[in-house]
Amino acid sequence: MAEILLKAGREDSLARKHPWIFSGAIEKVNGQPGHGDTVEVRTVKGGKFLGRAAYSPSSQIKARMWAFDDEAIGEGFFRRRLENALALRRDRLAEEGGGCRLVNAESDLLPGLVVDHYAGVLVIQLLTAGAERWRDTWASLLRELLPAARCLYERSDAESREKEGLQPRIGLVWGEEPPDDLEIAEDGCRYLVDVRGGHKTGFYLDQRDNRARVAAYAAGREVLNAFSYTGGFGIAALAAGAKSVLNIDASAPALELARRNAERNGLAAGAFGCHEGNVFSVLRALRAEERRFDLIVLDPPKFVDSRAHLEKAARGYKDINHLACQLLRPQGMLFTFSCSGLMPTDLFQKIVADAALDAGRPAQILHRLGPPSDHPTLLAFPEGTYLKGLACRVV
Ligand code: SAH
Repeated sequence: MAEILLKAGREDSLARKHPWIFSGAIEKVNGQPGHGDTVEVRTVKGGKFLGRAAYSPSSQIKARMWAFDDEAIGEGFFRRRLENALALRRDRLAEEGGGCRLVNAESDLLPGLVVDHYAGVLVIQLLTAGAERWRDTWASLLRELLPAARCLYERSDAESREKEGLQPRIGLVWGEEPPDDLEIAEDGCRYLVDVRGGHKTGFYLDQRDNRARVAAYAAGREVLNAFSYTGGFGIAALAAGAKSVLNIDASAPALELARRNAERNGLAAGAFGCHEGNVFSVLRALRAEERRFDLIVLDPPKFVDSRAHLEKAARGYKDINHLACQLLRPQGMLFTFSCSGLMPTDLFQKIVADAALDAGRPAQILHRLGPPSDHPTLLAFPEGTYLKGLACRVV
């Protein structure tokens, strides 16, 4: 087996079970490992064995650890890891017609592998050369471990694959084609899931708990759902008795799906507005019209894709949060999110605080928000933290 030798002192992060090995930590590669091949990891000094990893020659993250001990990497190993991941989701899997994440990559000790479940339809996303290398193994193990599943569909089209030297791949792996009107049930609502062309693997499963939170505050309120995508928060709010919902998104197809979601849930179309436009300018226009809302959701896309853009992103977050604070009625609720992994939680809170201050709207945090338990974060892998949010009440 090929091996990579780590520079002196660069094994510390592995001792803490952090799974990534950056190019700068590597002294030497022995042998000629190909994309995704398993390599042994050793210290250059003394040749101490540190574990086995998947090799990613194109990436700055040159290897990701599969194991920190002397385990053979192969089908038996991956079956145990998958079984462990499925055990966490057993209850959710048993829910008729539900949706959940089954494998959350590094945080489930399977770097680069994401598997989501939507009412019997499995969607796999391979993000790294190592995950790609075992594609056939995932396909057969998932079939074996989830015999009730209707199909496995692949959505390996995330931009990050480029850094791994991988081409995008979308399509059916096994089973029947997923239906065009695939939907999941969640907390009494139904949501259409576009596994072929939707964001991520088709739906924002990671906002499940937060949809329930918003719903809990929605009754009788006028709701603004900014960056609505297919209307998730808006559907949950209207179904929970909101007076009205206005969704804003730049994507016409996403809003079309939002309208269909409202219809499927038997919600009054008149109370469920969809406005196609840029949130930054639409919020300004609403402010100019002196419109006011009782509950605002801000769930923008990832604003930060590199550390160099953190400051610009911070201005973006500040701007929309400032506008939202101005649009809220007294006692109004702001549910504000950042899904940028590079945005620290404390900095995000500071930005929201500055926004409220500038708007002259003192506000208090009622809840700190994050992803649900089927999106765990491995303690040894804080990089897995991305979704963070605050539920604030304007005093
Ligand atoms: N809240 C959604 C997920 C939001 S994803 C949910 O829970 O399902 C981010 C959304 O923001 C995408 O639908 C994208 O089309 C939209 N978007 C990105 N930039 C935008 C902008 N400047 N103005 C309006 N919408 C934008």
